[in-house]
Amino acid sequence: MKAEIIAVGSELLTPDRMDTNSLFLTEELNKLGIEVVRKTIVGDDRDLLREAFRDALNRVPLIVSSGGLGPTEDDLTRETVADLLGRKLKPNDAILDAIKARFRSFGREMPDTNVRQSMVPEGAEPLNNPRGTAPGLWIENGEHMIALLPGPPRELEPMFHEEVLPRVARRATGVRMFHRELRVTGLGESLVDSRIQPVYKRYKDVNTTVLASPGEVQVHLRMWTEDAALAKKTFAEIEQGFEIALTDRIFSRDGSTLPEVVASMLTMNNATIAAAESCTGGLLAERLTSIAGSSTYFLGGVVCYSNEMKTAWADVPKELIEAKGAVSAEVAIALAEGIRRRVGSTLGVGITGIAGPGGGSEEKPVGLVHLALASASGVKERAARFPGDREMVRLQASQAALDMVRMHFLYNGVAKRG
Ligand code: ATP
Ligand code: MG
Repeated sequence: MKAEIIAVGSELLTPDRMDTNSLFLTEELNKLGIEVVRKTIVGDDRDLLREAFRDALNRVPLIVSSGGLGPTEDDLTRETVADLLGRKLKPNDAILDAIKARFRSFGREMPDTNVRQSMVPEGAEPLNNPRGTAPGLWIENGEHMIALLPGPPRELEPMFHEEVLPRVARRATGVRMFHRELRVTGLGESLVDSRIQPVYKRYKDVNTTVLASPGEVQVHLRMWTEDAALAKKTFAEIEQGFEIALTDRIFSRDGSTLPEVVASMLTMNNATIAAAESCTGGLLAERLTSIAGSSTYFLGGVVCYSNEMKTAWADVPKELIEAKGAVSAEVAIALAEGIRRRVGSTLGVGITGIAGPGGGSEEKPVGLVHLALASASGVKERAARFPGDREMVRLQASQAALDMVRMHFLYNGVAKRG
């Protein structure tokens, strides 16, 4: 089944307030196997609101709206939808009494304006609202289902669970949404997409989205079906295709992050790690230690920003820095080897680069980072040039360092498929 969400409220069209109800509703509807195909945000305007509901009714069987059920002149949802469906609004004494009782419980009299909250379109079912004054409304109109819910999230959320969910479930089929997520590093968004397109284009029933963030690309697969076995089989086929297209660039198949994947590899291999970081300023150490239990594999690290500290803390020869420059493959290697020796860890990581925005040159531009990984079997080094601002360069550098560790275990150790 397909659904649309209509978020009502002029404040949602200003920078002050964000429509978060639709995020909640989308997640809940997806769990029921209902696909949200469109979200509309509309101000408190009778004509625009009417148009929004009319158009949605032409497209989908289920509409869930939030907001505009309050007592004031600008709360128009109830009246507009009743009018659109050609249903009269009738006063409902039970609701009116409940609203009056609620006011009395605060020691106040109900203002006359609240009477409109007790009006119910003919044939509609009021939805109980223990957290607020206005009830929601459930309207079945031929093949259509419409749920009008109040705007405040603390009222909308329990009302959805208690009142809307059972009604929708009664009418929904057994279709559920199945989701699979793969994460890729070391390739840009468009390159990932161009490589996997020939695979996912063949599966019309699967919705594929490619999302990029600094240092990684996520590929989400969504499929709506009654058949769990079919979803599993389809995802396995697609994943196999992706594997051929992306080889070892896929690091996660279960939503785990790169630090998590690396942490589990270190643990499984009984390995320890230490880092000597320059341009990342400790970001690698921060990301590795943000995982619970990191003390078993992360022994320590230094942020050696100045040349003197590179020498003092990671034993990088002064002459080497003078000869090759602080940002060089040779210094990255010396950092990795130096910290590994000092700490006595299985692995040592060295990172040195130019995060920018200043400090770049023709020969060594902003974004250039040298990374090295030292182990018992020797040292690996790579240079990369990362795009973006300072934060992005630093994040991508830490990501690349983590990926070097991952590759090390992928080809030299016990590795779990991410
Ligand atoms: P009330 O009786 O409180 O007026 P209402 O159904 O008329 O309820 P609105 O007036 O539209 O709801 O919104 C009330 C408050 O709920 C807003 O000020 C806002 O804080 C919150 N709200 C409304 N819509 C949303 C939304 N889509 N996402 C998150 N919060 C919302
Ligand atoms: Mg209101």
